[in-house]
Amino acid sequence: MNNAIAGASMLQKCFDWTDAAAARASGVYPFFRPIQEARGSKVIIEGRELLMAGSNNYLGLAGDPRMKERAIAAISHYGTSCSGSRFMNGTLALHEELEARLAVFVGKESALCFTTGYQTNLGAISALVGKGDHVISDKFNHASIMDGIFMTTGLNRTVTTHRYKHNSMADLEAVLARIPRDEHKLIVTDGVFSMEGDIVDLPSVRRLADQYNAALYLDEAHAIGVVGATGRGTTEHHGDPALADLIMCTFSKSFGSIGGFVAGDHAVIDYIKHFARPLIFSASMPPANLGAVMAALDIIDAEPDRVTRLQAIARKMIAGFSSLGFNVGTAVTPIVPLVIGDNDLTFLFWKNMFERGVYVNPVISPAVPPNRSLIRTSYMAIHTDAELDQILQIAGEEGRKIGIID
Ligand code: PMP
Repeated sequence: MNNAIAGASMLQKCFDWTDAAAARASGVYPFFRPIQEARGSKVIIEGRELLMAGSNNYLGLAGDPRMKERAIAAISHYGTSCSGSRFMNGTLALHEELEARLAVFVGKESALCFTTGYQTNLGAISALVGKGDHVISDKFNHASIMDGIFMTTGLNRTVTTHRYKHNSMADLEAVLARIPRDEHKLIVTDGVFSMEGDIVDLPSVRRLADQYNAALYLDEAHAIGVVGATGRGTTEHHGDPALADLIMCTFSKSFGSIGGFVAGDHAVIDYIKHFARPLIFSASMPPANLGAVMAALDIIDAEPDRVTRLQAIARKMIAGFSSLGFNVGTAVTPIVPLVIGDNDLTFLFWKNMFERGVYVNPVISPAVPPNRSLIRTSYMAIHTDAELDQILQIAGEEGRKIGIID
């Protein structure tokens, strides 16, 4: 068979797929909009200033001059790339310094940094779960957890995946009870759920993990800097770092950088270090990003008001949207979903908010279950009350206009 023809038919689907083009033509295509400039809580897009109510820069650190300075200092000292993986030539003294600080920060013996949060979940889960093991995952867990599980099952087809109803301890227990006691089990859950903004019932998950002899892996991507009295995340919120056996987090949200880490007992982290393919076969976290995280740790310690302000903002926005009549689900954090349910109305609401100068994120299946499409709003410690009131006012006006609230 002629290779050119085989290649063409392989790629034909790309030419036949018109969904994005149709959405662009009708003006409701929300994705990949380039930000020309970031100015604190405002962004410039298509030459217009918008209020940012859709970023994960929860503590407002990504634009902080102290973060930039430390990133630049790290570049000056180490250069722009590590040019290799942690395993070989890509481990810097700064990686190890940061890992020691992170372990203390989350109350664990040891920590290990990856180049992204996504790779952290891929690497840690696939290193730990092997032949004959079971992974038990909340249905609303982030895609990187699912991909970590897919990687595990791809590497070893005898791994069994179980998914339980979101934050349902009854369903989690029913799943655990079906698995033979002597088979190895890893329960994986988000601490704060990325689309719903609710918090896992961690003490109950821990109780079930102990009762059914399972290990517990906690993804704190949206929890560190956000929940807990000093921003240490879900374990602090529920009062004890030992509630999870492993804690992972990304640096792309509260830490204002990019990368991720997993923390736990020394032996477990050392094992992950030697078996995580995304760590071994990908270049390590670059100096600038390490420097920024070091600065973020200093700022989080020195300025605890950022965390308390963020938590006050969460309460204000949840109360504000609820009193306007929006369905905010079970949110208790600065991730405040406006559940709409219908994809077309979700995109229309997004477009109207965008035109009124407010940046929010439309979320549809598969990122949320079908019929639960929503507008994901999220807030930063640097938002002023006047900005938050403006967002509420515009959302109320636009919501009434298209009939999603009365
Ligand atoms: N875990 C969760 C819960 C997330 O929401 C994300 C990213 N949105 C990740 C992991 C992956 O992190 P990163 O974007 O830093 O790779």
